[in-house]
Amino acid sequence: MAVIHESRGEIGAPAPVVDTACPLDCPDACTLHVTVHRGRIVEIDGSQKNPVTGGYICNKVRKFGERVYGPDRLLYPAIRVGPKGQGHFKRVPWDEALEVVVDRFRRAKAEHGATSILPYSYGGSNGLLTQDNLDAQLWRRFGTSRLARTICAAPTGAANQALYGKMPSVVYQDYPNAALIVMWGVNPSASGIHLVPYVREAQKRGATLVVVDPRTTTLARLADVHLAIKPGTDVAVALALHRHLFENGLSDEAFLAAHATGAERLRERAAPWTIERAAETADVDAALLRRFADLYATSSPALIRCGWGLERNRNGGNAAMAVLALPAVGGKFGVRGGGYSMSNSASWGIDRTWLTAAEPATRVVNMNHLGRALTEYDDPPVDVLFVYNCNPLATAPDQRRVLRGLERENLFTVVYEQVMTDTALYADVILPATTFMEGYDFAKAYGPISMELARPVIDAVGESRPNADVFGELCSRLDLLAEDEPKDELELAVRVLGALPGTIGDDLGSGLSPRPPFGLAPVQFVDVFPNTPGRKVNLFPEAYEATAPLGLYRFQLDPATEQYPLTLISPASERTISSTLAELPRPDVKLRMNPTDAAARGLEDGAPVRLFNELGEVHCLLNVTAAVRAGTVSFPKGLWRRSTMNGLTATALVPDTLTDIGGGACFNDARVEVAALPDTGKSVRKGKATVTN
Ligand code: SF4
Repeated sequence: MAVIHESRGEIGAPAPVVDTACPLDCPDACTLHVTVHRGRIVEIDGSQKNPVTGGYICNKVRKFGERVYGPDRLLYPAIRVGPKGQGHFKRVPWDEALEVVVDRFRRAKAEHGATSILPYSYGGSNGLLTQDNLDAQLWRRFGTSRLARTICAAPTGAANQALYGKMPSVVYQDYPNAALIVMWGVNPSASGIHLVPYVREAQKRGATLVVVDPRTTTLARLADVHLAIKPGTDVAVALALHRHLFENGLSDEAFLAAHATGAERLRERAAPWTIERAAETADVDAALLRRFADLYATSSPALIRCGWGLERNRNGGNAAMAVLALPAVGGKFGVRGGGYSMSNSASWGIDRTWLTAAEPATRVVNMNHLGRALTEYDDPPVDVLFVYNCNPLATAPDQRRVLRGLERENLFTVVYEQVMTDTALYADVILPATTFMEGYDFAKAYGPISMELARPVIDAVGESRPNADVFGELCSRLDLLAEDEPKDELELAVRVLGALPGTIGDDLGSGLSPRPPFGLAPVQFVDVFPNTPGRKVNLFPEAYEATAPLGLYRFQLDPATEQYPLTLISPASERTISSTLAELPRPDVKLRMNPTDAAARGLEDGAPVRLFNELGEVHCLLNVTAAVRAGTVSFPKGLWRRSTMNGLTATALVPDTLTDIGGGACFNDARVEVAALPDTGKSVRKGKATVTN
């Protein structure tokens, strides 16, 4: 742990550059150089330590200092003194704030049982120290409701687990070895930017690029084939590829016999999906789809990057299953640059059960049903909501219902956060959290395979405290920890380092970059194999045949109606990491619409519009662009309420229905209409909050 105590910029000393790493929810986990002057961050840039970072980073984290020192930063614990949502708080000492929380926990347990407490969190930080350790200890030992953390990656994760047991997948560095790259439902220009140069390098070496995306993204412009499919139809397209392989003698029967089960069942389900039928369903040119199918069948090494865009609809789980099954049926494994590429988060084989208590069999709340849980659940009702590492009022489906829930007078809400989020405005108690610039963490990539130590580069701003300290103290106040268990960040860091498999802990503690036993660039079916029974690909996981609404590899029809014919998608943007950093001013937020759809409605570029359906209405400006397919409109993911004219964002239009597999969110199943908004002269809303002494 010697490297942990490096200089952090003493007053008067030359501005030092401190090595750290980015643990935010992004596949890349960059290594960083942070310049600190007189105890303040003055510059954040990429370092060369991680070759994938290669000395550059995204503009989001380059501007992270604006969050650390910005006007929205939470500096002190505070208690609400005005009506809910008005943002009036009174500063209190940590001791008082924590005692209020502990007292409320005890009261909730006594009145309706501990399951009336709902912890709510997601990947505001993906580091090993900021989630799933002392927080999990608190919730499990106190017996609160459990949260199904399904808002992202649940369907793709379920598919990857079912088919391959989350086998490590192709890393960025191996993309240049591919002859064909298929980017399916993923836009690395917005998230995971370090993948782009590897794709470009592959193209320079002659690789063919196929992009499946309803938008003409930067990579789509550079693609040999761009399939701008209708959102929600990925499963039909993937099944047509399977049928093409099976029916034309292009499936790898030897591989399937040796390494897979369930191929016959998959073949049966793919049989109805001719190229023509799938093309009609996806609303793309059949000749283009046939070209894609031919390219996939005949290219080697062929690599599919399975993104998260394809999972955000009613067919999301089956879409991920069908896409991930393609390299097995097509015989694309066993060669460098071939196979599939998706989240590598499970590659390190880190088992956390050593640290936390076993999960109790308490109520499970799907996080996509937050609004429902707050407004409808009564057995028991949610009496206490504890939010950390996320901002559900901006991110959860059915925003207006979440808002109604947060407005409940008899709901006690704790928000433990870095900045005054939309959700924090509705808190009864606010606890200020450190950012990753102010604490330790272990940043684990899930695109490349890498893990790095993140260390504090400045002292905690205001009275903010790291997650492990606060959850450790809450556990201690509730008598939930044994003497020898870690209670704060440093104790936890030491314990985690000691428990990581192999030499990972030693390497991290010495400032080195660890490697898993199979190396940093494994070849699937050479260096790594499925973590499934018999190490075989399970192409027809029966459990999901029983639970998916129509069974496995089935297609549920589009939910569009005559009244709401347009598909609203809300993809990641270059400006935020989910909703993180959306507090920064963003005057250019616009709804993107194809010229055909705009003309049909008499709408002009730059005009104020209403985007609406039966769940809500969003007021914003219009951008007419051919970069989004006709019939689909696009509004950025993760916006805060201040970003629109009426304080509602895309999630206000998203139903809280769940994906066929994995219980994921159906963001892209929002069906909407768009109309002109009479010019009210209103601009975007401003955030509002005061914390008084
Ligand atoms: S958000 Fe991603 S690209 Fe940006 S610094 Fe962090 S890991 Fe790198």
